[in-house]
Amino acid sequence: METDDCACLLPRRFGGTATFLGEDTTKGRYGAVSLRRCKHCDRIWLDYFVEYEGFSRSDRWYRAVVSPEDAARVKPTTAVALIAAQPWHIYGGSYFEHAGKRGAGLVLVDL
Ligand SMILES: [Zn+2]
Repeated sequence: METDDCACLLPRRFGGTATFLGEDTTKGRYGAVSLRRCKHCDRIWLDYFVEYEGFSRSDRWYRAVVSPEDAARVKPTTAVALIAAQPWHIYGGSYFEHAGKRGAGLVLVDL
């Protein structure tokens, strides 16, 4: 049951278990892509994390709620576009110098 006050909606990085989908190797970036279903509200989150070795403050993550249909179809290489296509997302990391905020649209995953 979806609720509007579930803890998974708070703007912070997810803990807990995830289903790892693989790495997005687009432009050599090795983004880690995973899906997490919130056990409290059943929302499915698509989670993306990338960092660039040798570049300090390069790590960043994004996550967005996706439909079950999109979750079944998504591949590591299509994850960035799918997150960008959602009405909003949560993102953070040292690249942005914050631990989590809500945003929408642009997904900045390249160096
Ligand atoms: Zn939830």
